[in-house]
Amino acid sequence: MSGHEKDHVDFASDMDIIVKSESSFSTLEKPFGALVGAGLPLFSLAGGLVRKVLYDVLTSFHINRGYRVIETPLIASAELYKVSGHMDYYKDNMFVFTIEDKEFVIKPMNCPHHILIFANVLQKYRTKVNLPFRTFELGRVHRYEPSGSLYGLLRVRGFTQDDAHIFVSQEQVKDEMVKVFEEIRELYENVFHLPVNMHTIKLRLSFANLEEVGKYYAGTHEEWTSIQEFMRGVAEEIRDKYGIEYYEGVGEAVFYGPKLDVVTRLGDLGEWQIGTIQFDFNLPRRFRLVDLVERIYGSDMQIHMIHRALLGSIERFLGLYLEYTGGRLPIVLNPIQVLIVRIYTGKDDIDRKIAENADVVYERLKKAQVRAARVDADKVTLSATIRDLESRVKPSVYVFIGEREINEMSVNIRYYDIENKKHISIKEKNNDLTSTVEHIIDRLEEKTRNVLNARFRIYEDLEYMV
Ligand code: ZN
Repeated sequence: MSGHEKDHVDFASDMDIIVKSESSFSTLEKPFGALVGAGLPLFSLAGGLVRKVLYDVLTSFHINRGYRVIETPLIASAELYKVSGHMDYYKDNMFVFTIEDKEFVIKPMNCPHHILIFANVLQKYRTKVNLPFRTFELGRVHRYEPSGSLYGLLRVRGFTQDDAHIFVSQEQVKDEMVKVFEEIRELYENVFHLPVNMHTIKLRLSFANLEEVGKYYAGTHEEWTSIQEFMRGVAEEIRDKYGIEYYEGVGEAVFYGPKLDVVTRLGDLGEWQIGTIQFDFNLPRRFRLVDLVERIYGSDMQIHMIHRALLGSIERFLGLYLEYTGGRLPIVLNPIQVLIVRIYTGKDDIDRKIAENADVVYERLKKAQVRAARVDADKVTLSATIRDLESRVKPSVYVFIGEREINEMSVNIRYYDIENKKHISIKEKNNDLTSTVEHIIDRLEEKTRNVLNARFRIYEDLEYMV
């Protein structure tokens, strides 16, 4: 043993999800990381595919739950963040630059753009717009982090949030926040097979240090006190409903309001924040949404904003997930979903049949948009071949085709049960191999398919990876 335990960066690079920053672009004699810049992960081919499938899953998940999909620019006028208050409270984390004497920023947060879109919708369609009004974006943001604090995919400078903003009246806030927690549960359990319970997550009630209200936090002492009390009520309701405890983190709030953060301990890397549910009573005022709503709905309507992300940063979530699973992804996201192993014998007629059968399975799966690949082995090399594939691409399903499978028309399949973290073997006689494979894939995809009311399959030829 080398003593070097693989971490999520190794796993992600083995699966061709990312290009390792320290690996070298040989002819330029420079590491890739030096060319792309620190904290800016370079996703590779399988990574591009995983992201695409995940984006489809997340987009569909949100549309089904009443969110409106939007997409906003990566660069914005600094003016926008002056109105929002980020230039006062958050400037140290922002990349700010000047073009033609005008100040611009690289978008550090999507919220201000979402407010602009909501304001426009409201002005245009007036009382036809119903609350809660939900905007969703796979929003790419960039924030300055000191180079010493950067770490793999977990702490980066550029990342993508599954970000949404919910515009609500006072009476709707609590129900809507509890509903967001239910969405977190649905997504984690059904797409990632990650049970949501007191062993996997904790909730941090992120409060302001009340002595610093006015300095680091916008609003008044009284407002913070009463809204934090309200948030405690939300945390208690979630605790009672889902059995998940919360703890208070004083000084962890954002400048516009308190938050309820999902903190997880996946793998051995300690605790990391992933999802979040935030109460914002400041930005609607700063953007004068309060006045706009009053003008349209009358003065008895009070508007608030909930900022929320289910996974948080997609990069961080993937990194933690790979740590937790030892480098595995659920079948829906796995680049190599099925691996067909041809176990050759050296006997021509048998080997020809093995190859033919492997091709039949491969073509059927391809037609069904399943990403399969074929590899060769023989009785002697078989276990080494499997070990090698398990150390790199970790297919969800193995299909073995050798002499016995040909002669006895038997099925020999092994698949990975990600929920229980174990391999399961199926050996049956006189059964149709392709139907059995398809049936297993169907079952592995079932939870995700049910929660999304759709099948998420994208075929891409990744056979070169094995
Ligand atoms: Zn936000």
